[in-house]
Amino acid sequence: MSIDVSGVSKRYGDFVALDNINLTLPTGQLTALLGPSGGGKTTLLRIIAGLETPDGGSVVIEGNDATRLPVQKRNVGFVFQHYAAFKHLSVARNVAFGLEIRKRSKADVKAKVEELLALVHLSQFADRLPSQLSGGQRQRMALARALAIEPTVLLLDEPFGALDAKVRKELRDWLRRLHDEVHVTTVFVTHDQEEALEVADEIVVINEGRVEQVGTPDQLYDQPANDFVMGFLGEVTTVGDVRVRPHDVEVAVAPGVPGAVTGTVRRMLRIGFEVRISVATEGDAPDVTVVMTRTHARQLELAEGTRVWLTPAAGATTMAAARDAVPA
Ligand code: ADP
Ligand code: MG
Repeated sequence: MSIDVSGVSKRYGDFVALDNINLTLPTGQLTALLGPSGGGKTTLLRIIAGLETPDGGSVVIEGNDATRLPVQKRNVGFVFQHYAAFKHLSVARNVAFGLEIRKRSKADVKAKVEELLALVHLSQFADRLPSQLSGGQRQRMALARALAIEPTVLLLDEPFGALDAKVRKELRDWLRRLHDEVHVTTVFVTHDQEEALEVADEIVVINEGRVEQVGTPDQLYDQPANDFVMGFLGEVTTVGDVRVRPHDVEVAVAPGVPGAVTGTVRRMLRIGFEVRISVATEGDAPDVTVVMTRTHARQLELAEGTRVWLTPAAGATTMAAARDAVPA
């Protein structure tokens, strides 16, 4: 069982927001929809939810054709970037809301709310108002509220996007652990590749209304299907006619390496235990960026002005550079 999106398209006037999307999201999996802003991620999520109708194609949820089902009949839970809580209701009442409108018994609601607040580590804040929570705690409350109805699908649209980097990092670790406990089929929208790589079982890269690639984090990082995916998943630099990740550039300080690109270290920047090195090469090619450990740079006795010979490391992920490619 799964969510099956087949041939889904969506236009706004002349603008094609989604162009023939085909996807299977297996039950129990946490899938990230990753891509640049404006690529169509939210539109696809809203179509899965039933908040938007596709112009063509179908959405099948757990074997039921949901394409024409209204949102209330799809049993989906949502969390958005800016979550609208009921400001005058306590945290516990906010979480209870979906259960109360479904006319569950008082005892059931109480038990379920306690369980959910424990799950999202907010038990001690049950009686607070949403305004008395931090941003991260509020998003955890939103998750508890979304999970209360025991959704078939949990849809998260940049749920941590408005939080600062440190809280975001904590919440993504927490979401991964939560998912390992509850295993609800989850679709997580993000434009942050690090977030997707860390959290997701599988990543769908969406750009300009199309699916660029579907794969596990390792598959996408190590075997990108095209230039776009390679560049979006991590930094890329160009050595001669090959595009490669900066930490996959081999540096020699003497000639004799076949096919090496000759250059001169222009600048070295220390970032923690790593060094970022800009190497000026002959002709009008842009600088090559190389990343290596400080220890390695010291062993090579690299300094500004050192002559170097660069090659893509054996076994590195590479891609042919287009002649007029825009440098990364
Ligand atoms: P993402 O979530 O990946 O940033 P969206 O799905 O929100 O992208 O938007 C995809 C494209 O569709 C954008 O160019 C956006 O401007 C356009 N779009 C989305 N919703 C509407 C709408 N209701 N009317 C017109 N254009 C829209
Ligand atoms: Mg969006």
